[in-house]
Amino acid sequence: MDVKAHGAMGPNILLTGTPGTGKTTLGVELSQKCAMNYFNIGEVAKQAELYEGWDEEYQCPVLDEDRVIDELDEGMRDGNNIVDYHGCDFFPERWFDIVFVLRTDTSHLYDRLQQRGYAGKKLEDNIQCEIFQTILEEAKESYKPEIVHELTSNTPDDLEENLEKIIAWIEQWKATH
Ligand code: ADP
Repeated sequence: MDVKAHGAMGPNILLTGTPGTGKTTLGVELSQKCAMNYFNIGEVAKQAELYEGWDEEYQCPVLDEDRVIDELDEGMRDGNNIVDYHGCDFFPERWFDIVFVLRTDTSHLYDRLQQRGYAGKKLEDNIQCEIFQTILEEAKESYKPEIVHELTSNTPDDLEENLEKIIAWIEQWKATH
């Protein structure tokens, strides 16, 4: 039988999408409901100082992608993980059983990012990122198209629906692995 290396506990799920689309909200709730590990890559990098320099344009540290991978690789082999990041092309493809790209309409996203204190170029660049489907394209180029799924994330009802969908998928995955 073809058993995946990390089949024992549960699948590995990537939640990606433009900042503000709701990855953290969904990821934290999902991890609690399904007893899964949750990794917010921004937080992981901050805690372990996994940076390799400074981005002058955006005035923020640059993620050391190789060290992020080293940090998480062993745990990913065991399965049962949720990873949350606004990018997806540098993770090993083998890590994930499924990839969800959260999508939010511009008006909702604009309000959320403004509330977060984003303004000027940073706000506009993130809105453009969503309009141009940048992360969706990145996901489709980085993973098999059949494991990449878009999720609408505009309203609290969407959040509930997405939780239900993913939980049902996890149950199905567990039944077949
Ligand atoms: P991300 O992790 O993608 O940056 P967050 O989970 O931090 O996004 O969510 C950004 C903001 O949007 C938060 O204030 C959160 O409460 C809100 N939010 C997230 N998902 C939804 C949703 N489905 N409907 C309405 N508001 C949401």
